[in-house]
Amino acid sequence: MFEKFKPTWMVKSVYNVSPQQLKQHGIRAVFSDLDNTLIAWNNPNGTPELHRWMKELDQAGIPLIVISNNSKKRIGKAVAGLDLPFMARSMKPFSYGITRARKKLGLKKHEVVMVGDQLMTDVIAANRAGVYSLLVKPLINTDKWITWPNRQMGNLVWRELKKQYPNLKWQEGLEDE
Ligand SMILES: [Mg+2]
Repeated sequence: MFEKFKPTWMVKSVYNVSPQQLKQHGIRAVFSDLDNTLIAWNNPNGTPELHRWMKELDQAGIPLIVISNNSKKRIGKAVAGLDLPFMARSMKPFSYGITRARKKLGLKKHEVVMVGDQLMTDVIAANRAGVYSLLVKPLINTDKWITWPNRQMGNLVWRELKKQYPNLKWQEGLEDE
């Protein structure tokens, strides 16, 4: 029952995931949540680390696409400082947006990883879509109140997941799988 919540990987910071590691796993595109995964509300243009990582991906020919539940207008504004492509109205925790973006790129399921800070939306959506799922720690803890119920639920699931999969742990990157 808890399998749909189980991330493929748990990495402290996505900036540690190098193009080389992604390629070793056959991953050709990175899909990502935006809020608290790539940027925090208090720094909408992203940190220097984010920009360095984005440049690395770009140079390696690995597209980074934001998968968002927001409308085109809202997400367009939010990613303006990052200049990233995005899929709006993705309907996470359902697979809709991920699958749509994957098919647009003509990629197979095992060629895509979905990154996010929330079990209850990002990881479930990725698992439903059949792509790799990568859970990261939220950039900051003072989140918008609207995600609070999600987080509480996530905490319950989290405890259960740890019980069922005692080997699940935060890693530095994809190499120590
Ligand atoms: Mg998020």
